[in-house]
Amino acid sequence: MGVYVYMNSFLISKYKDVEPYVPGEQPRDKKYIKLNTNESPYPPSEAVLKAVEDSGRSLQLYPDPACRDLRAALAGSLGLEPGNILPTNGSDEVLSLSFMAYAHDEKPAYYANVTYGFYDVLSGLFNVKAKHFALESDFTIDINRYCGLDRGLIVIANPNAPTGIAIGVDEIEKICKESPRCVVLIDEAYVEFGAESCVGLVKKYPNLIVSRTYSKSMSLAGARLGYAIANEERIRELETLKYALNPYSVNRTALAAGVAAVKDIEYYRNNCKLVAETRGRTTEKLKELGFELTDSKTNFVFCRHPGVPASELSEKLREAGILVRHFTGERTNDWLRISIGTPENMLALTDTLKEILNGGKS
Ligand code: PMP
Repeated sequence: MGVYVYMNSFLISKYKDVEPYVPGEQPRDKKYIKLNTNESPYPPSEAVLKAVEDSGRSLQLYPDPACRDLRAALAGSLGLEPGNILPTNGSDEVLSLSFMAYAHDEKPAYYANVTYGFYDVLSGLFNVKAKHFALESDFTIDINRYCGLDRGLIVIANPNAPTGIAIGVDEIEKICKESPRCVVLIDEAYVEFGAESCVGLVKKYPNLIVSRTYSKSMSLAGARLGYAIANEERIRELETLKYALNPYSVNRTALAAGVAAVKDIEYYRNNCKLVAETRGRTTEKLKELGFELTDSKTNFVFCRHPGVPASELSEKLREAGILVRHFTGERTNDWLRISIGTPENMLALTDTLKEILNGGKS
């Protein structure tokens, strides 16, 4: 009789300590108001829905791995060349390719503590030495920390997540100029909600890569579509790795939706405006309830209440059918990140918070 040897894991040793990203929860036990993953509260435009439907008729065919139509559409809208754009499977793929391409143990990745948690995951996965620069006590970034660095990958989410705070294009330019041997990756996942894009610097600085996503401002989180914008040489480097890993990472439906959305940009700009207005009203209401907030330029607010722990607020909101995001961790434990939904969603949020803070009485 054979003897079974139970192994704990078949994983090769270099991945043994990988810490995966923990996405915001998507519970199915009941219907929630979802303010925990920064999705758009508005649906894709009619033209995008039509393009998605039409794309279904040719799903027996592989997508164009070079994503030529989408590249041309995006390049046209940004005043750049198709060779300056690389479409990807969500902007997370731009981040993965960049960590893979430009950082290692002798070429560190420099980024803030606190910022998007996926950067740490990628450092772990690709064996990258991570150098964290602490944010100031008010969560602002001291950009001088990123100037004069010798080599490696500088990653800055602008606006930052989960703090929502933005830096200026002049500050990004200073970093590109003063750390010319580093690749500077600016993650603009939330830029359309009130910050200033640095895309205009791409022609001037060959060390700059901008990553963008269709997940937030373009209402396509479910399609998984993002893109890198950079000097043609950087795009070729990232593209080589994309073709080495998954040449068809952007599917046919996402490509069709992406092209159609570019043509409907006014619809999406208006949605971003609505979200920013709702953010303003929500901020005021939260302040009236005693919350402290950062100056968010995104589709979420970052807030804390001096009287009630964030973990308790998030749990009570959940019980009331509203999901928000609470990140445990030294700097974030007191804070909640709350996505901006429709005005009705946000009214439900502030009414429920008022009840919680009043001990159950409205
Ligand atoms: N960057 C930041 C700062 C984010 O918060 C997110 C969303 N989680 C992403 C990038 C990735 O977005 P996606 O892959 O959906 O484009």
